[in-house]
Amino acid sequence: MKIKIGGIENDLYACLQCGYCTSICPVYNEVGWESASPRGKIFYIKQLTQKSIWDRILRRKIDINDALIKRIYQCTNCGACEEVCHVNNKPYEIWGLVKDWFYANNIDPPEILKKMQSTIETNHSPYVSGFESGSVADRNELLIKKYKLPEKGEVVFFVGCVSSYLLIKMMNSALKILRKSGINYTVLKDEWCCGNILGATGQGKSPTFQKSAQHNMAAVKATGANTLVTSCPGCYRTFSEMYPKYASKPDFEVMHFTELLVDLIDNEKISFKKSFDKKIAYHDPCELGRLSGIYEPPRKILENIPGIKLTELIDNKKDCNCCGNGGGLSSLEPDLAMNISLKKIDEVLETKADTLVSSCPNCRHGLSNAILEKKKRMSTNGGGDLGLDMMDITELVGKLV
Ligand code: SF4
Ligand code: SF4
Repeated sequence: MKIKIGGIENDLYACLQCGYCTSICPVYNEVGWESASPRGKIFYIKQLTQKSIWDRILRRKIDINDALIKRIYQCTNCGACEEVCHVNNKPYEIWGLVKDWFYANNIDPPEILKKMQSTIETNHSPYVSGFESGSVADRNELLIKKYKLPEKGEVVFFVGCVSSYLLIKMMNSALKILRKSGINYTVLKDEWCCGNILGATGQGKSPTFQKSAQHNMAAVKATGANTLVTSCPGCYRTFSEMYPKYASKPDFEVMHFTELLVDLIDNEKISFKKSFDKKIAYHDPCELGRLSGIYEPPRKILENIPGIKLTELIDNKKDCNCCGNGGGLSSLEPDLAMNISLKKIDEVLETKADTLVSSCPNCRHGLSNAILEKKKRMSTNGGGDLGLDMMDITELVGKLV
């Protein structure tokens, strides 16, 4: 089958195959095969769009097969390849268009990612059961009963699935901060998964994604809010980029929680009652930093916390190395995602920080698991203390206000 995808041919031909994007790719650095690198993926896709004279002479059969599909999805969507490309190619956006083209041509994503669509369709969450706050209905009831929030508000806090079902501490911290700030806020009576994982895996045109977008946007409208705030960079990008791209543009402002926190600090709506006397290293989540350009608000918050000694990773901001858990990789290839996370932890340990802070529930979840894994390996090898904890910035601020 010959691929003909509008919008990528120029990029494919602009690629000089220089390989600047190879050594910065976290997936290539673990897998080691050229076909796993951005350059290798581009080379492969280019072969599919136009067979060369040698392919014809040698009767080489280049086709869409499982190996190609695997490589296209073997990506954390970190965007690092785009940062270094000197012909301004956006490789990870090419993979997005290829995945969308796969979907439109009935070429399925890997089974586990396809299954996520049916799980979200049925449960309105990518998780099945047995998590901290139970089902979507249990979480919604908990929010309404425990927090007794009004039906209307100027600001809607969109909790997101990781904070709802895997890291309920994050949800409670955000709600504590909002309550203390005195602003007029609420949550959705029936929040559904935003669908980020579907948009990131070529399933943005699926009926499930479309229904999630329509449901969530109508639910926000019903609250009368003019602003939606979320502590998840994935939800943030879904509302601000994926809904306009695959569904429709929200008619309310979308903010990340760190942006709201800066406003609350500047306007003295919250203040720090306690100090935090620790050395902190800050990890820029790819979807918040490189892909959304939000670098300063988290740093400004940390600089305002009494007692904190803030240190930077050697590769920070636009050069920050990925935690390994984006793009569905932690579901698709958990061992690969874990190896990338472990490498990140080694990088943090070099700073001698005792607390790693990020602004993303997905990073928080993946990197905390990597810290646990590293501790486990150390105890198998005779022990020792890693001396490193992990927190999301929402949890940290929630402890101190
Ligand atoms: S850096 Fe750009 S031009 Fe060089 S191989 Fe990667 S995508 Fe191609
Ligand atoms: S987005 Fe990140 S993981 Fe994906 S190909 Fe580019 S550098 Fe590699």
